[in-house]
Amino acid sequence: MGLEEKLPSGFLLTTVEQVAGWARASSVWPATFGLACCAIEMMAAGDPRHDFSRWGMERASATPRQADLMIVAGRVSQKMAPVLRQIYDQMTEPKWVIAMGVCASSGGMFNNYAIVQGVDHIVPVDIYLPGCPPRPEMLLDAILKLHDKIRNTKLGAQRRRQIAELEEAKRRQ
Ligand code: SF4
Repeated sequence: MGLEEKLPSGFLLTTVEQVAGWARASSVWPATFGLACCAIEMMAAGDPRHDFSRWGMERASATPRQADLMIVAGRVSQKMAPVLRQIYDQMTEPKWVIAMGVCASSGGMFNNYAIVQGVDHIVPVDIYLPGCPPRPEMLLDAILKLHDKIRNTKLGAQRRRQIAELEEAKRRQ
């Protein structure tokens, strides 16, 4: 009997997915992208006291092409929306988004024509983080929850989701 018959069905694929999920979750590189007051708390999450480099995130990237996490920290103005989308499009696949604070998540107190009422109108959001502003510990908690999500994402699932979203957007045009 060959090795293939001895192994439980799906053994090899599951193992590769687990290794890929572990590697991705252990080396998330955030884009440096602060928009308003929440960005101060995001920066504090990288200081020696909170130290998100403990999870392989010490390299905040100044170029979107070397980043796979966008932390939208602050309210998004209508003028900034196309810039934000362009930066997201330039980031490497697979990629993730955290909406940090009520302004990024829903517009917050800025219920007016100048502010996008939730960044999920512009890019797909993986984690919504409440608070005004959320403390650095809350951001770390959101990042750890994102790690769980990354570890449990099947290979290619995110790409399939993005293709479905693009097709849906085309249908709506
Ligand atoms: Fe500023 Fe609060 Fe909005 Fe964050 S949620 S950008 S702290 S007003």
